Amino acid sequence: MADVTLRFYAELNDFLAPALRRRAFAHACNRRTSVKDMIESFGVPHTEVDLILVNGKSVDFSYIVGAGDRISVYPVFEGMDIGPVTRLRPEPLRTPRFIVDVNLGRLARYLRLLGFDCSYDNHLDDAEVARISAGESRTVLTRDRALLQQKVITHGCFVRADQPREQVREVLARLDLYRLVRPFTRCTRCNGLLQRVDKQVIETELQPKTRRYYSEFQRCSRCGQIYWKGSHITRAERLVAVLGRPPEVAARWEHFPHGADIGVRGFGATREQAFEQAAVAMTAVITDPERIAGSGRVEIGCQAPDDDLLLADWLNALVYEMATRKWLFGRFEVCIHGQLLTAQAWGEPVDGARHCPAVEVKGATYTALRVAQETGGTWVAQCVVDV
Ligand SMILES: [Zn+2]
Repeated sequence: MADVTLRFYAELNDFLAPALRRRAFAHACNRRTSVKDMIESFGVPHTEVDLILVNGKSVDFSYIVGAGDRISVYPVFEGMDIGPVTRLRPEPLRTPRFIVDVNLGRLARYLRLLGFDCSYDNHLDDAEVARISAGESRTVLTRDRALLQQKVITHGCFVRADQPREQVREVLARLDLYRLVRPFTRCTRCNGLLQRVDKQVIETELQPKTRRYYSEFQRCSRCGQIYWKGSHITRAERLVAVLGRPPEVAARWEHFPHGADIGVRGFGATREQAFEQAAVAMTAVITDPERIAGSGRVEIGCQAPDDDLLLADWLNALVYEMATRKWLFGRFEVCIHGQLLTAQAWGEPVDGARHCPAVEVKGATYTALRVAQETGGTWVAQCVVDV
């Protein structure tokens, strides 16, 4: 019998039962088990996990859990320096190749349209998908977490969005693929590569309207399907324009009601931007941020084991600076490296007549505390502040 303590971080919490999210919890284990099997017993696919710390030291999936272990489980960190620890995920494949699970056919077609190599066959069962993934080094895209728990799968991505277009944005943002988009290079029907073909070679195969309006043609090297480009914009070209580049995320903030207190929420294209906007939202609880002159500058640094706690620490560091200096801040620049945040805040001493402060913010709380990247790619950073 091994009693252990587990804590899952960031978006891994999405897989857990609500009562276990965002907190350390005790777990009794009555048989010899690897840390991989224990993590998956909570519904978290191993392909979503990038780092496991047991009693502060990184271990791999084969680690056998021992009595009293404190186990911290972290998700795939994109562009995050986690230092000299055991990264569980092998290096990303140089050219991303996918195998798309049976119920994600539209996602497969859209990704092919953008030039990504996507194997898809709606007759495959889970075992075949897993075998192809391992044999051809293809990342599995699926909405079935049981599939991602298969041992032979080393690269997988659990797709959270319901709508095919949102799924495309989610996969491209999460795996950092926008720079690899090469539209009209692959057949959306069969995944074959397209080759240029002269109009006169295929003229007899074209419908009269296609022959009239289109001048450039490509043919699939595998199935022979013909694709065209010309004076009329095709449906596919419109789709590429929508899906092929990252959505422009406007940095913004808002408040949300929470009993006698108030919630602050920042949105941005990056985690840093969402943190900056959450700070603007906190200032807006006190006064109009536009009224604050940026004549003075303060540097702030803080550190925390996960994004949620880092947000709370960041806002509390600002509350501390406001209280001790009797200043207000209206503009922020945040840098996050691993668990370390460094920032600059621009502001000035409180001027009662000009700023008309409405309330005093006493601190950022852990209530409704959440930092996450939404499926569309937008980062959200929020919590409730004490007023
Ligand atoms: Zn084809």
